[in-house]
Amino acid sequence: MHGCDIGRKYSLSLHQNAMADLFVEWFLKRKIMKVENVIIWGAGLNGLKLKRDLDQCMGNVKVSFFCDNNIKKQGYKLDGIEILSYDQIIQMYKSGWQGSIIISVIELTGIVDQIRRSDLNAKVYGTSYKWYFQENGHCKSAMDFLYEIDIMKPRLDYYEYHVSWHCNLKCKGCIHFSNVAKKEFGDLEKYKKDICRLKELFWGVRMIRLMGGEPLLNRELSDFCIATRNVFPDSNIRVATNGLLIPNLDAEVLKVMSENGIGFDITQYPPTEELKERIELKCIESNVRFSMTPLRDKFYDSNNLAGDSDGELEWKHCMSNDCHFLEDGHIAVCALPILHEKYRSVLNSKLEICDGDIIDLYDERLDGFSLNDRLSKPIPMCRYCNARTPKWFEWQGNYPWMQ
Ligand code: SF4
Ligand code: SF4
Repeated sequence: MHGCDIGRKYSLSLHQNAMADLFVEWFLKRKIMKVENVIIWGAGLNGLKLKRDLDQCMGNVKVSFFCDNNIKKQGYKLDGIEILSYDQIIQMYKSGWQGSIIISVIELTGIVDQIRRSDLNAKVYGTSYKWYFQENGHCKSAMDFLYEIDIMKPRLDYYEYHVSWHCNLKCKGCIHFSNVAKKEFGDLEKYKKDICRLKELFWGVRMIRLMGGEPLLNRELSDFCIATRNVFPDSNIRVATNGLLIPNLDAEVLKVMSENGIGFDITQYPPTEELKERIELKCIESNVRFSMTPLRDKFYDSNNLAGDSDGELEWKHCMSNDCHFLEDGHIAVCALPILHEKYRSVLNSKLEICDGDIIDLYDERLDGFSLNDRLSKPIPMCRYCNARTPKWFEWQGNYPWMQ
């Protein structure tokens, strides 16, 4: 395994972990401290917060300029520091100016692409996702909020992963087949290996959802959260759940989520509605950010088992065409091909799954750019979908309280 030091660090013993932390901190600090000048990208609230945290944690780093793409800010000052355009920054580097760029903007994919396209010879750092939600003055060291970005790689927009395959609600027509799945959990060691492989291909991932099935059924959920955060400090990591287990959830899981800036995405099914206030109170008192959908009391069936749909058209209208699904060394545009392969006998599925449907993550010909390209196109499996005219039906679940 190469190129995933943070992920490898996770498998060390506690003592080794502490040593590794010290080393990474020393290394990161040394690389920034060697270059005294820093440009903060983003002349806004986060940029100002970053300047103050840098002043506090890394006294000998000098914030020389802000950079901002908003032309109405350019030429003015923030906290006494001049705001430049990116063209001006490029000219400075061409004239021999030396320094690092630290991006303070939460949606930074486009900025990293902009820097890559301009072929700038600069070290680029990002601020960790959890830093955005911390109050000023909470950072004790650079390790708390900075990570280095390999600008020669692209970013993956999204992946989701089944921490549990089965579910405690068993909704009729569950599109992830968790209503028929036997009890089964994600494999933590395989997952850690696969996210390290993703880190070889991409500098980061914008959003990650740990889901199922019902992820809160998995007692290793904290370990999945920590492993994911260690490898992807940049990511918006969410635990997607029906929420039913949140009121009585183990405090340790909530603590790990809070400390790692990981939130819940709660889908509100009819039984969830019954517990809505208790769920909200638990999240608030545990300092775990959360979103909750409106009541979802209708489901839809968008299959076309005849397989004669216009795949490209279905893909264009499909709400899942960017829900890339990671499992056991493979990734697919959406969950469907991997799930149909897995549950072929349970579903008595006759659907034909082709090479083009599922991508081998360890294919040596892959790089991040070619993988992003494949994930942004229809797959042969799309011909089995009917995303344009789904059939809606009333939600039906199988939760013990409901019987
Ligand atoms: S709660 Fe979600 S994962 Fe569970 S059966 Fe229902 S739709 Fe599927
Ligand atoms: S197979 Fe294609 S159309 Fe069907 S859910 Fe996946 S991306 Fe959407």
